[in-house]
Amino acid sequence: SFHQIRKNEITQKSHLGQGTRTNIYEGVLRVSCGAEHDVDYDYRELNNNSRDLRVILKVLDPGHQDIALAFFETASLMSQVSNIHLVFVHGVCVRESENIMVEEFVEHGPLDVCLRKDKSLITPGWKFTVARQLASALSYLEDKRLVHGNVCAKNILLARKGLEDGSSPFIKLSDPGVTFTVLSREERVDRIPWIAPECVRNVSSLSTAADKWSFGTTLLEICFNGEVPLKERTASEKERFYEKELGLPEPSFKELADLINLCHNYNPSGRPSFRTILRDLTQLQPHDLSDIGSISSDYS
Ligand code: ATP
Ligand code: MG
Repeated sequence: SFHQIRKNEITQKSHLGQGTRTNIYEGVLRVSCGAEHDVDYDYRELNNNSRDLRVILKVLDPGHQDIALAFFETASLMSQVSNIHLVFVHGVCVRESENIMVEEFVEHGPLDVCLRKDKSLITPGWKFTVARQLASALSYLEDKRLVHGNVCAKNILLARKGLEDGSSPFIKLSDPGVTFTVLSREERVDRIPWIAPECVRNVSSLSTAADKWSFGTTLLEICFNGEVPLKERTASEKERFYEKELGLPEPSFKELADLINLCHNYNPSGRPSFRTILRDLTQLQPHDLSDIGSISSDYS
């Protein structure tokens, strides 16, 4: 379950983009002080007992009741968790026929955009820190036996960019959106190569193992400065790629390439635990990092 937010507590502002069956707006949430939200985000003191928080409003497209239930499922998943690298979901607001997820606004936006835009400033150590923070969020979920289901660079948000000297990035993994058990086969195929192969065939295969595959693909995006493997391929080419159990391109930094390979095991039970992944990432020292940013050989 999740906190219910009244429609007069939120104000909708500019449109930020579209997601899977959603529209995203910047917004403001008015909360009473002393309420359960002990928040350190940007806020403006209004008077002694309320303040405004900057939030995003994820407005679900109108549609079938199943989709709304899947959206609520995600809201309640996110309400059960508390981790510095997971985005904070304030609750859900039902505004007439609209269902709206109210979520912490993360200042510097999605990682995929940052990887492309700031690639000249991003160092191997920076990428490594992001990878470690993501592994720690996913290890937390694994310990709680919770599955995210939509790990990708687009769904990682930067609370701090960390591109100035002496600073480091700080990420928050966003909510997974509408759970993919209700997505069409076409939408699932569209998520290749992030979606785990076993989940294209059968939606009930969603498990922590699926998050490991997606984590591997996200590491590839990080290594390749936000370039998306198989982006130019058609849906049927993508499907065939998985059917033939082909391998995605490898980054030249061996330790990360090895880790990605372990995650991209077509046998879900062969993938390492996030606890192991996190330990391996922690043991690799930043001074070992040479050249994780370049693409080896043919990329398409
Ligand atoms: P999906 O379930 O496919 O991830 P979504 O509804 O989460 O869909 P996204 O495509 O992930 O939609 O997000 C759309 C855009 O909204 C992002 O590109 C990003 O710019 C912005 N955005 C999303 N969440 C936040 C957030 N918490 N803080 C700031 N910006 C955000
Ligand atoms: Mg998203």
